[in-house]
Amino acid sequence: MRQVNLLQQLIRFKSITPTDDGCLKFLKQLLQNIGFKCHLIEFQEADLEPVQNLYARLGKKGINFCFAGHVDVVLPGKESEWQVLPFSGDEVDGCIYGRGAVDMKGALTAFIEAVRRGMDKSIINQENSISLLLTADEEGIAINGTKKMLPWLEARNEKIDVCIIGEPTSTNCVGDTIKIGARGSITLTIKVIGKQGHVAYHQLAQNPIPILANIIKELKSTSLDNGNLYFQPSNLEFTNLSVGNEAENVIPGSAKVRCNIRFGNMHTATSLATKIEEICEKYTNNFDLKWHSSGEAFITNYERLAPIVAGAVKEVANIDSKINTLGGTSDARFLTKYCPTVEVGLLNKTAHQINENVSLEDLEILTEIYIKILQKYGIFK
Ligand SMILES: [Zn+2]
Repeated sequence: MRQVNLLQQLIRFKSITPTDDGCLKFLKQLLQNIGFKCHLIEFQEADLEPVQNLYARLGKKGINFCFAGHVDVVLPGKESEWQVLPFSGDEVDGCIYGRGAVDMKGALTAFIEAVRRGMDKSIINQENSISLLLTADEEGIAINGTKKMLPWLEARNEKIDVCIIGEPTSTNCVGDTIKIGARGSITLTIKVIGKQGHVAYHQLAQNPIPILANIIKELKSTSLDNGNLYFQPSNLEFTNLSVGNEAENVIPGSAKVRCNIRFGNMHTATSLATKIEEICEKYTNNFDLKWHSSGEAFITNYERLAPIVAGAVKEVANIDSKINTLGGTSDARFLTKYCPTVEVGLLNKTAHQINENVSLEDLEILTEIYIKILQKYGIFK
């Protein structure tokens, strides 16, 4: 079974983010052998490790249908807790085990297998093109991967017309969830500054704790929104509260709280920070607000693509896909600025976990779904 062999080979590369351990060079060779024109591109920034990226294209004209993904994986965790070694790719009871099996080397093999079957049956439409855009910098800070490859491609007049990302979006059955975006994330730290003093002379001090408590109460009871069609209601969670005062008889000089908000596309990180600042101002003028965002909420350009993918899932697996924005962020945030993009892949049940694995059955279903999508786009005849 060439697909299973390929997945096992890919898992055996210890491609812990942002290294690819030779995995992309291996894939470049494999794709070249079946007719793709390949570019292996390295990006590096400051003193960070250099990162490999691969762009491979079959065909020169028509619609350029792209599969985007990553070969880097997260750390395996305690090896002794794994049923098999995390980089063995061993098969146990019809499942391939290993870090990256579902996130997302498995989906990558499903796409390559889909293309190979298209070749076997000579059904590839020569009027269109198929491409793969693969990186080793997705699981980490993701600055030397897809984010840089897209302008690199654009500068070479290389246009991607439509893109699917093989992230493990599915919950119970392959294809049950198609992702069209992700929530944004902002972390804020609010420090209320009072005046330190003796508890016995409280009138000479100003205690920041009750002020901060009021701010916390209002923040938690304020509804940010009710959600919308594709985003659940935004949510604020407190993650740290500190005064740092060990003395029993001292009113502290300051008190601090930290929170994180996961938010929908009705906000931006800046609009939320402004809102939080206004709430703080109701209670004190003497505070310091610091924030950073690891990503804005986004919705991809999914309108035409998502129903096609859902249609493919329905025909292959006879299930109705949910289209949503649950889960973490992905390279879709970069790709969607260039072309219609959705994510559809394997089950996320074991992603990033001990004993990550994929069943041979799921690999086959995803391969068939990808074939069906390619047919619907006229990439396969
Ligand atoms: Zn992933």
